[in-house]
Amino acid sequence: PIYLDNIATTVLDPEVIAAMMPYFTDHYGNAASQSHSFGWEAMQAVDYARQTISESINAPHSRDMIFTSGATESINLAMIGLQGRSNKKHVITSMIEHKSVLDCCARLEANGIEVTYLPPDSDGVISPALVSSALKAETYLVSIMAANNEIGTIQKIEQIGRICNDHDIVFHTDATQALGKIELDMQRMNIGLASFSAHKIYGPKGVGALYLNSGNKNITLTPLVLGGGHERGMRSGTLNVPGIVGFGRAVEIAVKNMTVESQRLTYLKSLLREHMLENLSDIRINGHMTDCLPGLLNVSFNDVDADSLLLELADIALSSGSACTSAQRAPSHVLKAIGATNGQSQGSVRFGVGRFNSQDEIRYVCRRVVEAVKKLRSMTPR
Ligand code: PLP
Repeated sequence: PIYLDNIATTVLDPEVIAAMMPYFTDHYGNAASQSHSFGWEAMQAVDYARQTISESINAPHSRDMIFTSGATESINLAMIGLQGRSNKKHVITSMIEHKSVLDCCARLEANGIEVTYLPPDSDGVISPALVSSALKAETYLVSIMAANNEIGTIQKIEQIGRICNDHDIVFHTDATQALGKIELDMQRMNIGLASFSAHKIYGPKGVGALYLNSGNKNITLTPLVLGGGHERGMRSGTLNVPGIVGFGRAVEIAVKNMTVESQRLTYLKSLLREHMLENLSDIRINGHMTDCLPGLLNVSFNDVDADSLLLELADIALSSGSACTSAQRAPSHVLKAIGATNGQSQGSVRFGVGRFNSQDEIRYVCRRVVEAVKKLRSMTPR
């Protein structure tokens, strides 16, 4: 089978496995044990990963990187943790955020916070001008994702960060899909809080990080996980040393190859897109044509049910809508927000091209998708 679901998760890069392995076998110390070499080795490896990840996003201090179990936890810590210390009562986010952000917003609302959900345009872009016009005296947090996981649209986070900075408001960005794929600069982009995950960039599952700008006086977090005071008290619990080491190595590899890999993925994606546009009628490409994650292509096939299409393409791992929420089979909130009809949403497939996909694989997928769509359309009278 061909794996083309690299937005949902990615395979571990063999170099990442190699980096992690010694921390499962020989260097298994607890990073908090500072009385012997096992602990020192573990702590050194964690510090190195912290440094690597911090540098890759131009964070001012590596100590501002808190390791967590993944982006979902980072987002919860950022959004629920921050709320605990603020006396202001208004938050701005968008309608196309990941469920983890939207669910945190629902919790804030239950706690008496007002939340404004900004609509995207038809390409999935959240206009910075809309952010400006939604600001209130009561606004203390703006949370806008860096890149969308369903349609790939990249947001204007630098402009949004500037607006937040001008108004002394904390800016959180869910950068889960952006890290290692597009440039991120915490300082230039005025980002106060940013959430990351390792498994989207060929690192292990179950590890992520929250960047918090400790120099920003408006950012004081109340931890959600209490205990031994690890991670400067922000996230207690014995550190997942092999996971953190793998995360660091994954970031290192992704950042080093970002420009070249981004061009390669953009090319492979264009092969898919052009082949479908040339050979199929009634399709819609969802998301922004250029401000888009290099490997992500979301296509709506009119009069085709995506689940039937995926069954037909059983030898290709793809996702309909967003796999992150596919436990719930509702029309995608993202596609709805950009104005797709229910039919277009039901016929939508996400292609996630990744590091280990070859051109031959993409050409095979091109052929198979066109065949399958034509077959399904011929079976249902239009
Ligand atoms: N945010 C976005 C944009 C995502 O794509 C994902 C993926 O699942 C998450 C958050 C959650 O990340 P994690 O699986 O690390 O909790």
